Amino acid sequence: MKTLSVVVPCFNEEDVLPQTAKKLAEAMHKMMADKLIAPDSHIYFVDDGSYDNSWQIIESLHQSAEIFCGIKLSCNRGHQNAVLAGLLTVPGDMIVSIDADLQDDVNAIEAMVGQHEVGCDIVYGVRSDRHHDTLFKRLTAHAFYKIMRWLGVDIISSHADFRLMSRRAVKALAEHSEVNLFVRGLIPQLGFKTSCVSYIRAPRPAGQSKYPLRKMLALALNGVTSFSIRPLRFITLMGFTVSCVSVLLAFWGLAIKLFTNDALPGWASTVTPMYLLGGVQLLSLGIIGEYLGKIYLETKHRPRFIIEHVLGDLNASTDER
Ligand code: UDP
Ligand code: MG
Repeated sequence: MKTLSVVVPCFNEEDVLPQTAKKLAEAMHKMMADKLIAPDSHIYFVDDGSYDNSWQIIESLHQSAEIFCGIKLSCNRGHQNAVLAGLLTVPGDMIVSIDADLQDDVNAIEAMVGQHEVGCDIVYGVRSDRHHDTLFKRLTAHAFYKIMRWLGVDIISSHADFRLMSRRAVKALAEHSEVNLFVRGLIPQLGFKTSCVSYIRAPRPAGQSKYPLRKMLALALNGVTSFSIRPLRFITLMGFTVSCVSVLLAFWGLAIKLFTNDALPGWASTVTPMYLLGGVQLLSLGIIGEYLGKIYLETKHRPRFIIEHVLGDLNASTDER
C-alpha cells in the first residue's frame, strides 16, 4: 500500500480550516479503511505567511490528531510557491495538492488514487461545472485558458492546482529550478502517463477568495511570460506590418505628388505616423521589458520559499514510485 500526502496551501484561511481538516481527514480515514492508502498517510497544511489564526489552528489540529501536519512559510510567497513548497518537501508515494477552501471535491481524491493505481503518474482534477463561481471569475478564467492555448502553452482547461502526482513526477518537477514557477503550465510538460478526474466545483463555505484581481492578473502574466515567447514574435510581426504600411504610404504620397496637383504637405500625415510608431515602440519595449525583468529575477536564483516551522515528520521513507 502506498502512502498519500495531501498538500493544502493556506493563506488566512482560519474561517474554513476546521471544516477542511474535518472533511479531508474523513476522506483519508475512509481510504485507509478501504486499504487504498497506507495508514501512515498525512495531511500537510502549508501556511503561506497568514496573519490570522491559521497557524494556531494548524498547531492545534496537529496536537489533536497525528494525521495533521504543518509547514509554515516565513512570509507570504503566493499560492504557486506555497503549493511548490508542499510538493517538494513532504514525503509520500503519492502527493495530492488541494486548495484549503473546499471548492475542490475531497472525494475526488479517491478516484485520483484509483487512476494512480492503474499506472498514471499525474492525475488532474478538472472542474466539470463552475456555476458556483462568479460570472466575472468564469469569464476571466475562460479567457485566460483560451489565451494561454492560443499562445501555444499546453495547459489543461478548468484545472487549477488540484492534482495527484507520483513521487517520480514530483522528482521531475524538482529538477526545474526557475524562480517564477507557474506550476500549472509546467506539469503537462513533465510527460508521464496522465489522466483526469472531473468534479463539480463547490462554492467557498467560509472566508473570502484570496485571489483578488491583482493576484489573478499577476498569475496570468507570469503564466504567459514563463511559457510563451509569442508576444515577442508578435512585436516583430507588428514592426514588419507597420514598416510595410509606411512604405506603401510613401509610394502613395509620391503618386499624389507626381500625378495630381493637390499635394499639400498635411499635418495629419506627419503627426499620425509619429504617434502610431511611438505607440508601437512603447508597447514593444514594455513586452521586452517584461521578459528582461524575468531574466533579471531568474539570474538571482533566490529561494522560492523559506520554511519557518514544521509540525510532523518530513523525512518518512518513501518508495521510488
Ligand atoms: N493561497 C495561498 N497564498 C496566497 C493566496 C492564496 O496559499 O497568496 C491559497 C488559499 O489559501 C487557497 C488557495 O490558495 O487554499 C486558492 O485560493 P482561493 O480559494 O482564495 O482562490 P480562488 O478559488 O478564489 O481562485
Ligand atoms: Mg478557491
